[in-house]
Amino acid sequence: MERCPVCRARFKEKPICYRCGADLEPLLTIEAEATGLEKQAVTLLGAGQWFEARQTAERALALQYSPLAAAARSFACRELIASETRRLEQLLR
Ligand SMILES: [Zn+2]
Repeated sequence: MERCPVCRARFKEKPICYRCGADLEPLLTIEAEATGLEKQAVTLLGAGQWFEARQTAERALALQYSPLAAAARSFACRELIASETRRLEQLLR
């Protein structure tokens, strides 16, 4: 979060907006959760766990949009499709 969603004041790492007094704690909690899920998705990608990586990236995106989580999700989707295609090709052989 770069700005207070209520008054657009610049965010100063405090859970209460210095200008309008809005309680930003719930948003900060969601952001932290989304960041944690995003990192977890990247770790799962590194481990080749495409299905779990996609699910985790989707959970992160449901909380907050981030380009990294979106990239992780589409990468995992592509890899899932590719591995499914390989599996089917082997079955049909
Ligand atoms: Zn504010």
